[in-house]
Amino acid sequence: MVDLLAQRRHVGPVLDDALAAVMAHGRFVLGPEVDELEARLATRTGAAQVVTCASGTDALVLMLRAAGLGAGHAVLVPTFTFAATAEAVVLAGAVPVFVDVTEPHFDIDPLRLEEAASLAARSGLTPRAVLAVDLFGQPAPYEALAEIAAGLDLVVLADAAQSFGAERLGQKVGTFGVASATSFFPSKPLGCYGDGGAVFCDDPAMASLLRSLRHHGTGGRPNEHLHIGTTSRLDTLQAAVLLAKLTVFDDELAGRQAVADRYHVGLGSSVTPPAVRPGSTSTWAQYTVQLDDREAAALRLAAAGVACAVHYPKPLHHQPAFAGLPATPAPVTERLCRRVLSLPMHPYLDAKAQARIIDALV
Ligand SMILES: *Cc1c(COP(=O)(O)O)cnc(C)c1O
Repeated sequence: MVDLLAQRRHVGPVLDDALAAVMAHGRFVLGPEVDELEARLATRTGAAQVVTCASGTDALVLMLRAAGLGAGHAVLVPTFTFAATAEAVVLAGAVPVFVDVTEPHFDIDPLRLEEAASLAARSGLTPRAVLAVDLFGQPAPYEALAEIAAGLDLVVLADAAQSFGAERLGQKVGTFGVASATSFFPSKPLGCYGDGGAVFCDDPAMASLLRSLRHHGTGGRPNEHLHIGTTSRLDTLQAAVLLAKLTVFDDELAGRQAVADRYHVGLGSSVTPPAVRPGSTSTWAQYTVQLDDREAAALRLAAAGVACAVHYPKPLHHQPAFAGLPATPAPVTERLCRRVLSLPMHPYLDAKAQARIIDALV
C-alpha cells in the first residue's frame, strides 16, 4: 500500500546525518530537534502552538483532555473512521456519540449533529464537542461545522491524523477548530519511523496544559506535579526523522496528487472515484474507490499481485469495543462499508506500476 523504502532512498543522507546528530548529543527525550520540529510545524501551518507527543491517539486524548472534556460529556464522532477517533474519547473519560457521514466526501454529517446532541442529552450526557475527521486526507467542511456546532453549543475539534499537509479555502490543516490532532505513524502522509503525533492550537494556556499532560502533569517548578498526566513525549530520534522528511514533503504531496490524477483518468467510470471539495486539497492518505462488487475486484488485484485494503469494513458503533454506546442511524456509512476499497497510494508509485493496478481493475 505504501513504499517506505523508496522514500528512504529518496530522502537520502540527510536522514542518516540527522539521526547521527541525535546519537551524538544524546538528548533522547525532549531534545533540541523536538523544539525545532514544533517550530517548523507551526510556521508551516500557521498554528500558533504545536505540541508533539507519542502517537496520534495520544494527541487526540491529550487534546480532548486539554479542551476540558471528560466524565459526563458527549463528543460527537463520525462512525465511518479509524477506531482511534472514538477510542480517544473513551480514554479521555467522555462518551462518543456516533454520527453518519456524507457522500462523496466521507465526513461527519453537519445536518445530523442536532439529532446526535439530543440523543446524548436523552442518554444523560452533556453534549460538548464535535470531533470531525479529515478522512482519507481532505479537511472536513469546518466552516459549515462551526456554524451548526455554535448553534448547538458544541466546540469543534479536528482529528487530522490523515490530513497533515492539506488545506481548505487557503487555510492549512492544523488551524481548523479549537484544536487539531495529527499522527506521524509511518504510513500517514508525514510519517516517522515509529509512533508519533502532535496537537495544534491557538491558545497558549491550552498548549502549556498539553505540555504538562504529556510529561506527567509537571508544573513550573522541579518535582511539582499539577495534573494527572502521562508519559507521551515524541522521541528526539523521531523528531529528527520528521525534520529530514519535511525537506521532501512538498514534493511528496505533489507526487501523491499526480498518482491520484492518474488513477482518476485510468479508472474512468469503472469505479466511483473519491472526490475532493472545491477549495480543498487532499494529502491522499488513502485513495479509496467504491465498487458494486468489491470482492471480485479484490480477487483480481490479488491475482495481479497488488495489495488493497478496506477502510473501513464496519461502522464503528457495530464494533464490539463500542457496543452499547449512543449512535444515530447511519445508512450512508453502512453502504460505504460494503463498497469501499483502498488502492496502493504513495508518492513513489510510478506510472508503470500504477498501470498494472489499473489494468487489474478496469
Ligand atoms: C491513524 C489514525 C489515528 C491514530 O493515530 P496513531 O498515531 O496510529 O495513534 C487516529 N485517527 C485517524 C482517523 C487515523 O487514521
